[in-house]
Amino acid sequence: MTTFNLRSLRLRSGEQFVDAKDVELEPLELGGQRYEPVPSTVPATLTITKASTGTVFELDFAARLHGPCYRCLGGAVLESPLQLREYEARNPDSDELRTPYVVDDKLDLSAWARDAVVLSLPDQILCREDCAGLCPTCGKDLNAEPHTHDEERSDSRWAALAELRERL
Ligand SMILES: [Zn+2]
Ligand SMILES: [Zn+2]
Repeated sequence: MTTFNLRSLRLRSGEQFVDAKDVELEPLELGGQRYEPVPSTVPATLTITKASTGTVFELDFAARLHGPCYRCLGGAVLESPLQLREYEARNPDSDELRTPYVVDDKLDLSAWARDAVVLSLPDQILCREDCAGLCPTCGKDLNAEPHTHDEERSDSRWAALAELRERL
């Protein structure tokens, strides 16, 4: 877990602090599958700007996730460049003006980065845009072995036969 101690930071209104931080990213569980950040620690730029009304926190980094493709279960790689921004009012009187990532003067960079990565994910993580997936009939990878089954035809033949038998 990477945190940043805000207590040591003495910024006056209008001042800005910029620092390079290595942020540890956690593996994600999505739909029962595990997605690993590679590398698990990424370089990030943390910017803290003090205004008269509050503080703006910004974090820039890029995450790369490795995990199974939603359709074919082969390896998929997902790159997400992210620019995050959070604001905390000096005298927050509602949750809107408070960032959940600052607790006891510590900014939780890992939790912030993890939530942002999750929010940035597409509905389906695919090995490639046009992944053909697995055959619903035999389970083979349709990318490696494109094929179809002529089951539908034999199915209708059986249905016709069954119908005939019922009539007799
Ligand atoms: Zn795939
Ligand atoms: Zn098949």
